[in-house]
Amino acid sequence: MPEVLVLGHDDVAALLDLDALLPALAEAFRQFSAGATSAPPRTAAFTADGLLGSMPAFVPGAGLAVKLVSVFPDNHARGLPSHQALIAVFDDATGTPLALIDGTRITTVRTGAAAAVAADALARPDARVLAILGAGVQGGSHLDAFDRIRDFADIRIASRTAENAAALAARHPRARAVDSFEEAVRGADVVCCCTDARSPVLRTSWLDPGAHVGSVGGSFGPELPADLVAGRVFVEWRGAALNPPPAGAHDLQGVDPAQLTEIGEVLAGTAPGRTSDGEITVYKSTGHAVEDAAAARLVLDAARAAGRGSVVHL
Ligand code: NDP
Repeated sequence: MPEVLVLGHDDVAALLDLDALLPALAEAFRQFSAGATSAPPRTAAFTADGLLGSMPAFVPGAGLAVKLVSVFPDNHARGLPSHQALIAVFDDATGTPLALIDGTRITTVRTGAAAAVAADALARPDARVLAILGAGVQGGSHLDAFDRIRDFADIRIASRTAENAAALAARHPRARAVDSFEEAVRGADVVCCCTDARSPVLRTSWLDPGAHVGSVGGSFGPELPADLVAGRVFVEWRGAALNPPPAGAHDLQGVDPAQLTEIGEVLAGTAPGRTSDGEITVYKSTGHAVEDAAAARLVLDAARAAGRGSVVHL
């Protein structure tokens, strides 16, 4: 009878160390782009109100895991998060179930952290002004993670609902709420798009030369304008353009995969990242199963070391 370790939200919150997660994600991206992982595109079942996606991955060194994630965008009105998830970890030598972990918190943290890994590789080293568009769960995750990659002196936060921007800005001493997405973006060195918008949240003309733009949102429609993704775009995987949503990105449908560079290639030094101080770099995320497997491994190892969690005999 397998012994499965069950780890809830509070366990993950206590055990998932952002400083350890950033290099773990970078390594997962490198392994993915080197062809060392196995991770098929996300599949999903749809209801009238949302979807349930399945994201299995094998990452050598991190292990074998699957995330089941539901996305119900109207859940906030019910007092629930829009994304809720479970991650099951299996022994990669025997296939025996090892752990069942709250995937909601992991999804929250790993998405902002993965965007920060990409921005660390692509943004100008002297970037000092950060704009966060969208003050939901991902806005908060980005605020936490981007603090680790540059010494941002001015952090502007804008959200559709002004009170949400103010509440998020109150969490950080150098953050301030601004009235519009345009006000946040103009003059920013790094722009994080973290909204559930169905149409673009910024215009390319608002961006200064040399800016870096990351976009993790837009699960139900493009978050970036078409002219911004007309050139080079950095992605977790080329499948972001080759697959329809919910595996691929709305923003990249019809984009030539030759325009895409995987962030794992940049991190491994097998493809160039930013090529000049004036280049606008764009990172479009769909989320990827290797990120969840890497994060789940950190949580499981930390739980075992701390003796945390409940054991269930299947
Ligand atoms: P939340 O529901 O917590 O927040 C949604 C945010 O989007 C809020 O700031 C909300 O503004 C804003 N928003 C919603 N609709 C619009 C609109 N029409 N125009 C402008 N802003 C809008 O969601 P999350 O933060 O968890 O997720 C944000 C996005 O990121 C979603 O699309 C989600 O699917 C995606 N995501 C992507 C992941 C990835 O790996 N790439 C992983 C997890 C999430 P307000 O509340 O202020 O009105």
